[in-house]
Amino acid sequence: MTDSPSNFILDAVAEDLASGRFKHIATRFPPEPNGYLHIGHARAIIIDFSIAEKNGGYCNLRFDDTNPAKEDVEYVDAIKEDIKWLGFKWKNEFYASDYFDELYDFAIQLIKEGKAYVDEQTPNEVRENRGTLKEPGTNSPYRDRPISESLDLFERMKNGEFPDGSIVLRAKIDMASGNISMRDPIMYRILHEPPHHRTGSKWCIYPMYDFAHGQSDSIEGITHSLCSLEYENHRPLYNWFINELGIFPTRQIEFARLNLTYTVMSKRRLVRLVKEGYVKGWDDPRMPTLTGYRRRGYTPEAIRSFVETTGVAKKNSTADVGLLEHHIRQDLNIRTDRRMAVLDPLKVVITNYPEDKVEMLEAVNNPEDESAGTREIPFSREFYIERHDFHEAPPKKYFRLALGREVRLRYGYFVTATDIIRNDAGEITEIHCTYDPETKGGYAPDGRKVRGTIHWVSAAHAIDAEVRIYDRLFTVPNPMSKDEGKEFTDYINADSLETKDSCKLEPSLKQARPDEKFQFERLGYFVVDPDTTNEKLIFNRIVTLRDTWARVEKQRAREKMEENRRRKQEEKRRQKEMAKKG
Ligand code: ATP
Ligand code: MG
Repeated sequence: MTDSPSNFILDAVAEDLASGRFKHIATRFPPEPNGYLHIGHARAIIIDFSIAEKNGGYCNLRFDDTNPAKEDVEYVDAIKEDIKWLGFKWKNEFYASDYFDELYDFAIQLIKEGKAYVDEQTPNEVRENRGTLKEPGTNSPYRDRPISESLDLFERMKNGEFPDGSIVLRAKIDMASGNISMRDPIMYRILHEPPHHRTGSKWCIYPMYDFAHGQSDSIEGITHSLCSLEYENHRPLYNWFINELGIFPTRQIEFARLNLTYTVMSKRRLVRLVKEGYVKGWDDPRMPTLTGYRRRGYTPEAIRSFVETTGVAKKNSTADVGLLEHHIRQDLNIRTDRRMAVLDPLKVVITNYPEDKVEMLEAVNNPEDESAGTREIPFSREFYIERHDFHEAPPKKYFRLALGREVRLRYGYFVTATDIIRNDAGEITEIHCTYDPETKGGYAPDGRKVRGTIHWVSAAHAIDAEVRIYDRLFTVPNPMSKDEGKEFTDYINADSLETKDSCKLEPSLKQARPDEKFQFERLGYFVVDPDTTNEKLIFNRIVTLRDTWARVEKQRAREKMEENRRRKQEEKRRQKEMAKKG
C-alpha cells in the first residue's frame, strides 16, 4: 500500500495525530488461532501493518486465544509463517492469554462497582431473555443480586466448583438496548476442558472474545484497532468496557471484508473443506488460504498488489477472482523463465531427419527480461507434441498440425505431417512428417509463411513429470447463495483437480526444485510442488495464460472511450445549436 492513495482510515489516523488525540500510532493484527489465514486476512494484515508503517508506528501480532476448544499451536505457527511470507514484520508477539490475570482483575473491578454480576440462568434462558432486534430483552432474576454474592460466586467459578455452562459472569449494561451486544453481554464462561495451548489447566474460566479483545488492545496501548465491519456493533461495548475501567482509549475503525467470487472465505467453512475431505489439507492449492496460494505458486507480491487494488472500503463487496488471477499473471510474466513441456504427449517422427543426429537450438528464457538470457534445447528425429495440436479433420481456423499441413516448431523447423500411425484399436499413436532443413530457427528463406507454431519436446531427452491441473473449487460465483436450499458444499467443482502423469518436459527442468516457477510455453504458469522427490518431478498449474480479465479491462476502456467520444460530440452539437439560437 506504500504508493496507494489515501483512504478513510489513513485520514482518520492523520486527524487523530493532528488533534493530539494520539501521539504515536500502534496497530495490531489479531488472528484467532483456530485455522489458517486466508486472503481476506491479507487485507486486514496489509491495512494494519501499512497504517502503522506510514505513520512511523508499529504493528503487533496478537493471537486472540480465548477459546481453548478450537485453538491450536499448529495454527499459531502457520499464521506467523504466512505473515512473514507476505513480507511483514510485527513488533511484538502477544497473546490475549498473556492478559488472563489482568482481565480477571478487570472483571473483579466491574463486579465491585456493581457493573457485572454472576448469572445462574441456564444457557437457554439467557438466550431467550436476550430478546430480538424488535423486542427488548428481559432482566435476569440474578441481575440485582448483592455485589458480595457475585464476587463470591465468580471466585468459586474460577476455583472450578461449577460445571461447564452452569453459570456465567455478565456485564450489567442495558437489556433494552437497541444494540444486542449491549444487553448484558457475557464476560466469562466456564470451560474445564481441553487445556489451553498456553496456560494449560491454570484456568477453567475464560473471557469471552468481547471481553478480551478491546482490553487487550488497551493494555498494549494500541491506538487504532482496525477490524472488519462485523465488529461495528461491538464497538459501543468495547468503548463501554474501556470507559468503565478507565483504561487506555483505543479507537476502533471498521473496514469492509474482502470476498472473492468462486470462493468461500470464513475459517469455519474452510475447516469443513479440510475435515470433510473436499481438499487435501489447508495447503491444498485450491484453498484460498495463504499457505494454499503459496503451494499453488502465487507470489506474495501478486497477492499484495491484488489486495491493494481492491482498496479500503466501508461497504462489503466481492472481488472478481479473475482480477486476482490477472495480478498473478502480471507478476509471473516478468519473473518466470519460459520452458517447453508437453502435458498430453503424442509422438512425432521426422522421416527425413538423420537417425542419430541431435541439434542444440537456442531458446529465449524470458522475452520480458533480457538478463534472463538464453538456453539450449535438444532437437532430434523424434519428439512429442500435444495431442490436441494434431487434428485428423481440422475444423476452420485450426492452424496447427494436420495431414499435408506445414507448421512451425517453436525455435525449430517447419514440418509437414505425412502419415498417421494407429494401434490395433484404431487410436493414433504416432504422426510421421517431413521437415525443411532450410527453415531452422523458424523462418523460410523463400519467405513462405505458416500460420501455426506449436511447442514440442525431444523424445530421447524428455524428462517425465506429473502435472496437477487445478481449476476453481466451486462451480458458481457465489457458493454462499442458499438457492434451492443448497449449501456451499453442494457447489464443489468435481473437476477441480486433474492429474496428468505422463508429461514430457525439456531436459533443463531436471534441476527444478520445489517452489520454482516457470511459464510452460502456450500452456500457463507452473510451480514445482513440494511432493516432488528425486525420482518424481511434480508441477502444479498456477494459472493459464489466457487473461480474460485483461480482455474485460480493454473492452471497458474501449467502451469508456466510445462513451467519451459520444459525449463530446453531443456537447459540440449542443454548443452549435446554442450558437444558432443566441
Ligand atoms: P473468519 O470469519 O474467516 O473465521 P475471523 O474474523 O473470525 O475470520 P480472525 O482470526 O478473528 O478471523 O480475524 C483476524 C482479523 O482479520 C480480524 O481483524 C478480522 O476483522 C480480519 N478479517 C477476517 N476476515 C477478513 C476478510 N475476509 N476481509 C478482511 N479482513 C478480515
Ligand atoms: Mg473470528
